[in-house]
Amino acid sequence: MNYAIDITQLNKTYANGHVALKDVSFQVQTGDFFALLGPNGAGKSTLISILTSLCQKTSGGVKIFGFDQDSQSQQAKSCIGVVPQELNFNPYDKVIDIVVNQAGYYGIARAQAKPLALHYLAQLGLLSKADKPAIALSGGMKRRVMIAKALVHQPKLLILDEPTAGVDIELRRSLWDFLSEINRMGTTIVLTTHYLEEAENLCRNIAIIHHGEILKNTSMSVLLQTVNKEAFIFYAEAPLLVAPALSSQFHVRLLDSHSFEVLMDQGDNLNSLFLELIRLGIVISSMRNKTNRLEALFLDLIKSV
Ligand code: ADP
Repeated sequence: MNYAIDITQLNKTYANGHVALKDVSFQVQTGDFFALLGPNGAGKSTLISILTSLCQKTSGGVKIFGFDQDSQSQQAKSCIGVVPQELNFNPYDKVIDIVVNQAGYYGIARAQAKPLALHYLAQLGLLSKADKPAIALSGGMKRRVMIAKALVHQPKLLILDEPTAGVDIELRRSLWDFLSEINRMGTTIVLTTHYLEEAENLCRNIAIIHHGEILKNTSMSVLLQTVNKEAFIFYAEAPLLVAPALSSQFHVRLLDSHSFEVLMDQGDNLNSLFLELIRLGIVISSMRNKTNRLEALFLDLIKSV
């Protein structure tokens, strides 16, 4: 199997004795869109820093597209583009220079780098800002500059550390579209995120890390199938005095005079629920999922360790 990332028995103990990664092993397939999820302090940034050679591992093996990070570090590095959490450019530099200069670190000549930089800036909606100093850009635009910078040497693997943290919903959606498109065109993507909805929407495979250990590593669809309860919130058109008297498979709780929650098994269908509501004469004006299913599972997993 051709893996974009192959990690075996990876350990990291910081100089102060803190064990940040414990025997971490997992693979990311070429072409995958992979989520690395975990609460603060789980070890995600440490793992990314090791993958991108910013931080020395204590022991274990890392291969990037088959290149051993120890013995073939240049080849391994050239396959990776990384978008870190913190701004990683001089904000007084012009946007185009930030991106073109980055290409220089990978041995790409300026004449070749410029059209590539303009291509990615255009794709990210930043062409009109190319000649502006980065400091003049909004927070969301600066983040997109970081993405253009990470892509300019056309890496086969793009790693993003919390790419949409603090980014407004509109920009988040446009970044999702952009990332989905470059993934469709063949770039393998790994992202860490706190927005579990983001992982659910974008990613095919997932690893959940907690206290430096991998708790789960599976496909998103298999993971979501293991969540067997789903909660919905219903909004009734007319006020309710008590929770609707539904059959016992539905666990109902009145939230306020116009809304109630129904907890049901994932296999149960909503039609029978609506038939019961119709029989009771309750008109529903709207409904929504109470929680993101992945979020529920994630919280359960973390509680259990
Ligand atoms: P995450 O990115 O999941 O929030 P990190 O990889 O940043 O987690 O941190 C994992 C653990 O390692 C945390 O407990 C953090 O405090 C610790 N840590 C991170 N960097 C260092 C360091 N340079 N020295 C000592 N401990 C560190």
